[in-house]
Parts: sequence; structure tokens; C-alpha cells
Amino acid sequence: PYERMQKIREQNIASSLRTYYKKPLLLHQGHMQWLFDHEGRRYLDLFAGIVTVSVGHCHPKVTMATQKQLARLWHTTNIYMYPAIHEYAEKLTSLFPDPLKVVYLTNSGSEANDLAMFMARVHTRNFDIICLRGGYHGGSPYTLGLTSLTPYKHGVANGFGCTTTMLPDVFRGPWGGSHCRDSPVQTVRKCNCTEGACHAKDQYIEQFKDTLNTSVPKTVAGFIAEPIQGVNGAVQYPRNFLKEAYQLIRERGGLCISDEVQTGFGRTGSHFWGFQTHGVVPDIVTLAKGIGNGFPMAAVVTTKEIASSLAQNLHFNTFGGNPLACVVGAAVLDAIEEDGLQKNSEDVGTYLLLELAKLRDKFEIVGDVRGKGLMIGVEMVTDKDSRHPLPAEEINQIWEDCKDMGVLIGRGGLYSQTFRIKPPMCITKRDVDFAVEVFHTALQRHVE
Ligand code: PMP
Repeated sequence: PYERMQKIREQNIASSLRTYYKKPLLLHQGHMQWLFDHEGRRYLDLFAGIVTVSVGHCHPKVTMATQKQLARLWHTTNIYMYPAIHEYAEKLTSLFPDPLKVVYLTNSGSEANDLAMFMARVHTRNFDIICLRGGYHGGSPYTLGLTSLTPYKHGVANGFGCTTTMLPDVFRGPWGGSHCRDSPVQTVRKCNCTEGACHAKDQYIEQFKDTLNTSVPKTVAGFIAEPIQGVNGAVQYPRNFLKEAYQLIRERGGLCISDEVQTGFGRTGSHFWGFQTHGVVPDIVTLAKGIGNGFPMAAVVTTKEIASSLAQNLHFNTFGGNPLACVVGAAVLDAIEEDGLQKNSEDVGTYLLLELAKLRDKFEIVGDVRGKGLMIGVEMVTDKDSRHPLPAEEINQIWEDCKDMGVLIGRGGLYSQTFRIKPPMCITKRDVDFAVEVFHTALQRHVE
């Protein structure tokens, strides 16, 4: 069957759809943090699908709720009322601070960010959207201009004018790791700044101001940022950077959009939403990935006032907020609460960060270990001084070895030099011990 699948893939599936690994995995089944291939081999999924499987593959409660709804009603579009959408809207918005109490349901993160930008423009009657270098906000023609990671943008956008409809990454923000953040591990580039007097933050803010003053008009529509940059490899900003950036944007009449597609739903451990870790309250929040534990659904949450600006414009999509999606979303929220997954993210995430930091101290090629909760980046370098990315063949070998020993890890960063570790939030300390041992073996093989 493997060869047959490969043949179909070559002939009938778009070649732009890339697979991980030299010999791609053929997966048949999943259970919580584990995946099983066509030969029954078990893998610890440290990438949670693609940061989507928040509560575990085929989580029994989510599966049961979905099956029940499948037999009752799948879809009507939102031109009718049905209980599921109301119950979900109430449940989801109860998790947000005031005044974020109105939800729009969409189907993907890109669609959510499209809508967020549209909202910011309609509400402010301004045009420009500011984003940060290194951010990922989607692959739609509208969001592609915000996605500043080179492989996703250049070569695609060029020639098609995708980015000319908006101002692309105007602020050259953080690449790679940052300097001063709330993390249980010390970073390689140590920052001893005290709270409120962070040198790195001041530098970033000066650059940000400079960009706002020189590159964009006096008024802006909005600013979009991830609380921790996900695809860029769990990159964190200097402490208080986001807070000051929000202030500068608001002074220019813009709305602040928090892209919580990866950081939401308790993944960062200490808080349910990533923006809370920065002490800010955005005007618009976008959600996807973990919202449905892998079921395609997404959302935008905003204030009543902003939503009212859109009221004259009919916002419609066919599938957003369908009964099945709403039941899945509600069951995911129940599972996070009942299984104590936010706390688990904090406990197991901190344990994992500290274990990985030991590997960073032992191996010169482990340049940085960073992150928060179960959103972790391990940056691979030639040496800690230069911090040049480790050549791709070498990183690939370590990564393939981990897979062969039963551990699946994501990749990210501009040069794909960062291992991304964002497992289902049900992962245990025992799983961490196994994963760290595997990673240690792979690193040891590499240096021998
Ligand atoms: N925002 C962030 C932070 C993401 O990581 C992604 C997906 N990687 C998106 C938006 C886009 O989501 P989707 O692929 O569902 O369109």
C-alpha cells in the first residue's frame, strides 16, 4: 500500500504540497499524543499535527461529542438558528476579558486574519496594516503580505502583486531568538536587564517608532502580531515590547490584533491566551489550529463596538460556525478544562524546557532553547558565538534520526534551523524523558 500511495501522490496531488522526511510517513491512526504508521509503528507526536491537535489525537470526549452531533445535524449554514452556535459563542467568549465578547466563526487561520484586517480597515477607515518581520499570518493572497518568512512569500508574491494590496512587513522586527523574556531557561544571549529597563526592548521600540514615523502614513488601520512567533521558531519579544508597540499603534488610531492561532487555548501554560502573557488587551483576536483539535474551524473575537462597524457589511461564509464545528469547539474547551491541560502545559512545558536547556549546555550546536509552556523552539547552530544556522543536511540527519527512534518534531525559522516542539497538551513528563533521551542520542551521534 505504501508504494501505491506514493504513486498517487506523485500523479494526482499537487507537488507544492510538501511532506516531511526523506521517506514520508504513512499514518493510519492516532491516539492522544501518539501516531501510528501503516506498519503499526508508534511515534510520539511533538508537533501535534501542526500545532493543531491541542487535546490529543481522537480525544475520546471530543470524538464522542462529534459522533453524537454527526447523527443529529451537520450543517445548515448560519441563515438559521441552531443551539450549537449559540452555546459555543457563549462558552468561547466567556474566556475573554471585557470588552472582547463578540465572535465571528470562520474556517481557517488565514480566513480569520483576512477578516481581522478587513475589520480594522472598516472600523478605523484607515488602510495600513503593520506586522512584524518573522511573523506568519496565513497563505491567502490577503494575508500573504503579512507573512514575512521569505520561503512563504518571495517567489510566490513576486509577479502576482499579492503584496501590493497592502503594506507588507514594514517593521523589521525580531529574527531568531530574542534577548529578554519570561522564560524558565537562560538564553544564550543573556540579558540582565531589570523590569522596565530592558535595553533590547528599547532598541526594538526605537526601530518600531522609526518605521512608523518614516515608512507609513500618520494613521494606521491596525497592527498584527503573534504573542510568540510560531512558524519562526518560538521567537519571543523583549519584555514589554508588545505593550509599548500597542500604545504606539493606538496613538495612531490603529487597532491591535493578536494572532493566537498557535498561542491560544492554554498552550503557553501560564495563561489561556498569549496576549495575557504580555499584559495587553487587543481589539481583535484571531483563533484557529488548536481551536478544533484538528477539525477545520477558526474564529475572530472582537468588541461590540468594532463589530457594529461591520454590521452594515454582510459578513458571510458558508461553513463557518456549522453545528458540527461548534460541537467540536465546545468539546475541546471542556477537555482543556476537565483534563487540566493549561496547567499541564505549564508544568510539563517548564520541565521540558529545563531538560532541553541541559542539552543546550552540553552540545555546541544547540544554540538556543526558548519558549513558554508547550511552545518551544530549539535553534540549531554551527556554534554558539556566531549563531550561524547549522547546515540543512546536518539538521535533517538529526531530525530523521529522531523520527526513526519514534519522535516527530516540527521545523521552523527562516532557514528551517529551529526544531519546533509543540505537542498535544496531554503529554506527560514520562514522554518528555523519552523524547529528550532520543534527542540526546541523535545529537551524540552527530558529534561523534
Ligand atoms: N497565523 C498563525 C500564527 C499560523 O501559525 C498560521 C498557520 N501556520 C496561520 C495564521 C494560518 O492558518 P491557516 O493555515 O489555518 O490558514
